[in-house]
Amino acid sequence: MADIIRLLPDHVANQIAAGEVVQRPSSVVKELVENAIDAGATEIQLIIKDGGKTLIQVVDNGKGMSGTDARLSFERHATSKIQKAEDLFNLHTKGFRGEALASIAAIAHVEMLTRTEDDDIGTKIKIEGSKIVSQEVVVAPKGTSMLVKNLFFNIPARRNFLKSDQVEFRHITDEFHRISLAHPQVAFNFYNNGSDVFQLPATDFRKRIVHIFGRKTDEKLVPVDEETHVVKISGYIQKPEFAKKSRGEQFFFANNRFIKSPYLHHAILGAFEGVIRPGTHPGYFLNLEVDPGTIDINIHPTKTEVKFDDEHTLYAMLKSTVKHSLGQFNVVPALDFEQNQNLDTPYSYKNKQVGIPQVVVDSTFNPFETVQPSRGNSGGGYSKPKVDGWESLYTGIETNTDTSASHLEFESEVVNSSIFDNEKDSVEHTTTTFQLRKKYIITTIKSGMVVINQSRAHQRVLYENFLKNITIKEAVSQQLLFPLSLSFSPGEINILKEIKENLCTVGFVFGEIAEDGVEISGVPVLVVESEVQMIMEQLISDFQQEIPGDSFSQSDMLAKTLAKTLSVKTGETLDEFSQVKLVNDLFACKETTLSPFNKRVYVTITENDIERKFI
Ligand code: ADP
Ligand code: MG
Repeated sequence: MADIIRLLPDHVANQIAAGEVVQRPSSVVKELVENAIDAGATEIQLIIKDGGKTLIQVVDNGKGMSGTDARLSFERHATSKIQKAEDLFNLHTKGFRGEALASIAAIAHVEMLTRTEDDDIGTKIKIEGSKIVSQEVVVAPKGTSMLVKNLFFNIPARRNFLKSDQVEFRHITDEFHRISLAHPQVAFNFYNNGSDVFQLPATDFRKRIVHIFGRKTDEKLVPVDEETHVVKISGYIQKPEFAKKSRGEQFFFANNRFIKSPYLHHAILGAFEGVIRPGTHPGYFLNLEVDPGTIDINIHPTKTEVKFDDEHTLYAMLKSTVKHSLGQFNVVPALDFEQNQNLDTPYSYKNKQVGIPQVVVDSTFNPFETVQPSRGNSGGGYSKPKVDGWESLYTGIETNTDTSASHLEFESEVVNSSIFDNEKDSVEHTTTTFQLRKKYIITTIKSGMVVINQSRAHQRVLYENFLKNITIKEAVSQQLLFPLSLSFSPGEINILKEIKENLCTVGFVFGEIAEDGVEISGVPVLVVESEVQMIMEQLISDFQQEIPGDSFSQSDMLAKTLAKTLSVKTGETLDEFSQVKLVNDLFACKETTLSPFNKRVYVTITENDIERKFI
């Protein structure tokens, strides 16, 4: 039999390898900007078009390349950064594999213009799909400009796999955040489709964070500083009260390189435990400086995962350092979730006059009557006295108009005894219901009983409701007495702008949208003012993962997020009226068996099922 093994031609091998290095436009941005930093640039410009699909250009004022080096730089494993294996253990540069330029040139049209300080004249090279198209001697400024056009032009499958321009733009922005945070002493300019995205002057770490995430960030930062023989930890954490629904602002840098480390992240979570609201994420910007010999960045081609020699020590140190900072800046005692919230008096009530409590007697109440589910009626004399909402715990206490909602929002999240405001919405098909473990509602049907997951059922009801509002564009919105000013980072504002139209159809009314904040003057009727910030954050965080391309899926996602955020949760006590209404609303839905997230809403247990158990 003839031999069948062949060596792949270089351009094919390059294309295959390119798949590892270049997953999407943001990978090209990362490689090119890191090369510019390795070349000692103090000023870097990033210019992109159409989410980087059409054009990515990185211009630096670094050391440039000679004509020969310029040509060689496109060869696989051509690098000026390491020479021998041992060098891998003493890395001070971002790159070292010598693969990036070869990979990029294999799958795009590339033009490089470069000149070193010592040369009078520069070099221009055009290369397309690994083939050199031209190399000329030209006049050029000192430094290097890399222009990458038509990414994946020769791999249609990869090109089609790319997401919308906005999504790719977002990935590039994420990458830009990481690199520019790791190098505050380098000035960066970033342009997208001809307009400014970021103009970042050379500065220090704190100011760089503020320039990127907005003016308001400054007051949220708490410094972290610790040095031992193993590691130097520096940077900032965000005060716990600013913990967000989205995970956006979490950055670890190891020796000026952005890294991902679920393990070390866990250490931070540990330090924040008990001082942030459940379901929110602490923000942090932390630099770890370790001996380059004790860190291995070679385990992943995209190089964000690293391995530290002594991870356990690092973990413990990180946790205690962050805890220390939280304590030192007195940010811990302000919030304490360990306390029994039922016994807790909201701060704003502390200094108020106590008046005589009003006792409301239901004169129509007759303990021998059959159960009439209606709010405020204790129903049959066996249930414990009902509380309309946590507010009624404080009846008789003079309220003051300055009772700021932010003080109360934790309490109001805990017990929501009534989810339906309109009690006149009388229930036609009355059934007897029972709440089990603050999680299920049990009701009877002809053949037996139904056990309904309260949270999923409510999600289904809200979801269909919101979707209907969006479709018929007839949302009911409540005007806020004072417009709310919420601050967001420029990136978050961009997302808000994209989904704004849809938000309006569900009842949000927007005032001015500035660069780092937004004014909200109206909200959907179901939304409580104190929850607006949380809801917006949840929305942004969901859409950050992915903005659906067409408007239908965008509406769908919006309805889902709102349903998820506003639904009653497990652990909430529902009064009988609410239970019955929920059951009836659920069974009036188009789809009743599945939640918007495809989870089973209820199970039925028939009389037969029960009887079988008694055999
Ligand atoms: P690596 O960065 O891993 O060495 P690359 O393929 O990214 O591999 O680059 C190959 C070589 O080209 C680098 O080692 C460097 O010598 C040179 N080079 C790339 N980009 C630049 C630049 N912007 N300025 C100067 N030299 C560069
Ligand atoms: Mg490189």
